[in-house]
Amino acid sequence: PYDVLVVGGGPAGASAAIYAARKGIRTGIVAERFGGQVLDTLGIENFISVKHTEGPKLVASLEEHVKEYGIDVMKLQRAKRLEKKDYIELELESGAVLKTKAVILSTGARWRNVGVPGEEEFKNKGVAYCPHCDGPLFIGKDVAVIGGGNSGIEAAIDLAGIVKHVTVLEFMPELKADAVLQKRLYSLPNVTVLKNVQTKEITGTDRVNGITYVDRDTEEEKHIELQGVFVQIGLVPNTDWLGDTIERTRIGEIVVDSKGATNIPGVFAAGDCTNSPYKQIIISMGSGATAALGAFDYLIRN
Ligand code: FAD
Repeated sequence: PYDVLVVGGGPAGASAAIYAARKGIRTGIVAERFGGQVLDTLGIENFISVKHTEGPKLVASLEEHVKEYGIDVMKLQRAKRLEKKDYIELELESGAVLKTKAVILSTGARWRNVGVPGEEEFKNKGVAYCPHCDGPLFIGKDVAVIGGGNSGIEAAIDLAGIVKHVTVLEFMPELKADAVLQKRLYSLPNVTVLKNVQTKEITGTDRVNGITYVDRDTEEEKHIELQGVFVQIGLVPNTDWLGDTIERTRIGEIVVDSKGATNIPGVFAAGDCTNSPYKQIIISMGSGATAALGAFDYLIRN
């Protein structure tokens, strides 16, 4: 059996595996897509100490670092079941069953898409999902935020301080965000809020140049010219496969304590799949390190 098996090969998983392997214990990583969300990222400018890098380049460095240690890297393998017996058993979609004393779940998350024409085509070309990451790319420009929940309104307030103008598009007749956020939003001079509207299309040529929506009251179709669209309709953790075994929040995030431990002894979690706030590369790496040290602590006590 493994001492520590890491499920997920994004920044959280890579960090957890390196921290575990450096303790001289038998470590493996199972990853469907090594690199995770970082593979889909163009410019990264908030990975501290690296002024600018690109996703695939950072993934190559992660992989190179992981390879420095005797870590079993099992790529293109999807985990489908976790069960605690004498050992913890991880079943893969291939049918293989791996045994381990401790496991670190770092299966990440994915942004929910609006699913309108132009979204896929203009990803990284004006369509963005993370205001902390990409907000500064739109200094002095006009942008839209799709989604009037807490994350959408937080994004709109954040962006209003950077960009020229923000238009918020909410499908329902009312915003769902907390009253205090709405109050703050409505106090800003460079924000327009459109409620009861349905986004139809994100338009552009080589980059985004506008958004088309339908006013659901009048069924009138309208178009706004702008340079960026932030989609803020939810981040979905990749945790469905866990079933009811492990405590998760209402939206499916794995609940962890300050050492990355879950409710099941020997099962730890890190990164975007957990209930830790603020989903960022640097934060997921930190939580991967925490979970690995937590798992090591667990192993020397059991
Ligand atoms: P992920 O990166 O999501 O990795 C999850 C891993 O788990 C992957 O290897 C995946 O294949 C694997 N996996 C999932 N399910 C299974 C399964 N059942 N079995 C096996 N493996 C599985 N953050 C920043 O700090 N700066 C930025 O500039 C930035 N820009 C971003 C741009 C985009 C377009 C996106 C999408 C995200 C961006 N982020 C940025 C956020 C950042 O990428 C994430 O916070 C970070 O990647 C989370 O790391 P993670 O390891 O927790 O999860």
